[in-house]
Amino acid sequence: MYIIFLGAPGAGKGTQAANAARQLNLVHLATGDLFRQALEQGTALGLQAKSYMEKGTLVPDEITIRMVLERISAPDLKSRVVFDGFPRNRKQAEALDKALAGQGKAIDKVMYINVSEKELVRRLSGRWSCHKCQTPYHITDAPPKIQGRCDRCGGELYQRSDDTAEAVKRRLQVYFAETTPLIDYYSRSNKLVEIDGEGEVAEVTERLIAAIAGEKSVPVRQKWA
Ligand code: AMP
Repeated sequence: MYIIFLGAPGAGKGTQAANAARQLNLVHLATGDLFRQALEQGTALGLQAKSYMEKGTLVPDEITIRMVLERISAPDLKSRVVFDGFPRNRKQAEALDKALAGQGKAIDKVMYINVSEKELVRRLSGRWSCHKCQTPYHITDAPPKIQGRCDRCGGELYQRSDDTAEAVKRRLQVYFAETTPLIDYYSRSNKLVEIDGEGEVAEVTERLIAAIAGEKSVPVRQKWA
């Protein structure tokens, strides 16, 4: 099973993909997390990605696609993957389709998590993440039990450098220009399932799990009008 979680920065892809992966026994593959880990470890990949991530722009396709294709050919993935933050443009989507087709596989569903712009900005500006395990928190919506410490692993919490006001604006622009065309791309192959991403985290997870399990697309109000 190959599932893509699609949505703007702040739509909750990371949190929801982690929840869905736990409940459905899928491997959670988050390109942003892979880049951040590479950056922390000071690898060549991390150094290549650094300046793009800081600006809030996309890491070049050649680097990103190579990283993902290497990862999905690893035996531990067992063909059960939830993609979070990939693909982010048409070139990446086509490269993924081609690589899977070469192995006689295909994307099963694309979960489009729809959240209004106002809510995205509110979420992103209050977001903190764990340095060690990447668990996301929010200063008002999901605060940690102990200030500055991760509930799950005790790691130190930090605010991502790309969650500053300027970088958030840039990331949303990049999303609208590069990633929203994928909504059409996957609609055409009938793979897109639209989910209302607002409300309690657990409620959104329930909607997603129900939709992955087979129920048809859930229509949502047009948030971007
Ligand atoms: P995220 O954690 O998904 O918001 O990603 C953080 C940053 O990593 C993005 O702003 C990009 O700079 C980079 N990144 C993550 N995924 C991709 C991707 N699929 N293509 C290009 N850059 C990416």
